[in-house]
Amino acid sequence: MYNHTNSKKLQIDAEEVILGGVNSPSRSYKAVGGGAPLVMERAEGPYFYDVDGNKYIDYLAAYGPIITGHAHPRIHEAITEQSSKGILYGTSTQLEIDFARKLRKAIPSLERVRFVNSGTEAVMTTIRVARAYTNRNKIIKFEGCYHGHSDLVLVAAGSGPSQLGTPDSAGVPAGVAEDVITVPFNNIDDFKTAIEHFKDEIAAVLVEPIVGNFGIVEPEEGFLQAVNDIAHDNGSLVIYDEVITAFRFTYGSATDIVGVTPDLTAMGKIIGGGTPIGAYGGRLDIMEKVAPLGAAYQAGTMAGNPLSMAAGIACLEVLEQPGVYDELERLGAKLEDGLNELIKNYNITAQINRLVGALTIYFTDEKVTEYNQAERSDGEVFAKFFRGLIKRGINIAPSKYEAWFLTTEHTDKDIDDTLDIVEDVFKNEL
Ligand code: PMP
Repeated sequence: MYNHTNSKKLQIDAEEVILGGVNSPSRSYKAVGGGAPLVMERAEGPYFYDVDGNKYIDYLAAYGPIITGHAHPRIHEAITEQSSKGILYGTSTQLEIDFARKLRKAIPSLERVRFVNSGTEAVMTTIRVARAYTNRNKIIKFEGCYHGHSDLVLVAAGSGPSQLGTPDSAGVPAGVAEDVITVPFNNIDDFKTAIEHFKDEIAAVLVEPIVGNFGIVEPEEGFLQAVNDIAHDNGSLVIYDEVITAFRFTYGSATDIVGVTPDLTAMGKIIGGGTPIGAYGGRLDIMEKVAPLGAAYQAGTMAGNPLSMAAGIACLEVLEQPGVYDELERLGAKLEDGLNELIKNYNITAQINRLVGALTIYFTDEKVTEYNQAERSDGEVFAKFFRGLIKRGINIAPSKYEAWFLTTEHTDKDIDDTLDIVEDVFKNEL
């Protein structure tokens, strides 16, 4: 069983200088009963090595971006080569053009694109652009979907589809929350009620086309088409938040899977190959609202920086090789099947949602198609499961809602080893 002595010591040091000891609250172990989070020393391929010398099979993949595994040689080479030529110019570069072309080739709805530095910025800006285009203020979003930490999207559901939201974070003014309506995912009736109630006040509908933030949840047949049709009939735009989903399930965006195209798309994570990045884009007539052509302002000292461009291009070059997503599908299915067999053999109340190389285990007997069902997944059982895994060599996110992400570097042996560890946890800890 692993010993985490050095991680615990470093957390005490961290708390003296970094608020809460972590630079993002999702890294703390608060949701699994507290304690010191693991401190990692190095990572390679699908593995992590912590400061106590323990090795882990990693399914966190840094919350999604690391789809080609850690320290991928092709990305490492692209970054080091670029850093020898300068890491930040504050001018235009050929790399930006090359990368934008590559993105548009994979996602044709990106008639024009802009690079920013995070998913938060990308989503925040699409909302501003939609407001500028429609001259309307309100947005509709879906319960349990996370869209970054800008004010407008840190708003929880009101008590019904025609109710305005309340701030989900201290420091978000009530006036901001008044512009947000939150409705359940996969529930077209509630969506319709909300849009009919607020009609020509709705600038945009913001949606994760395949949810990644209360586990992996696919849209039900016809849901996204109905969202598009109803929004467009109402003169509202549709924004897809593809920060998790772009290049996660296929070489391109979730639109290839769901068969519906939005007006604007926000991206991040994978497209930076592990470096800080965000991007947004879409229809030319809408994007023309952005400065310097239009009056909607968005800027960034680091936007389109050469390191992220080089890493992003290298990452997409790895992902566009034939068979990459087939292999993620094969290993994902193997992991899902193995887990389901263990769930059955050990009589665990649990079920799995999976798409290609991403899956979530919910400790509930109910199928999960919307947030309330995900919320009913048993947090105490998850906490025991999580702690059992990190004592034995598997690293996942300390959250019952988060997905396990496979990388191109995981092997059959990693899946076999993972199933052995999970079996030991089911047998001895749950
Ligand atoms: N949108 C979605 C769907 C996300 O999952 C996230 C991050 N988990 C964000 C936006 C925010 O991205 P970032 O953390 O890069 O700001």
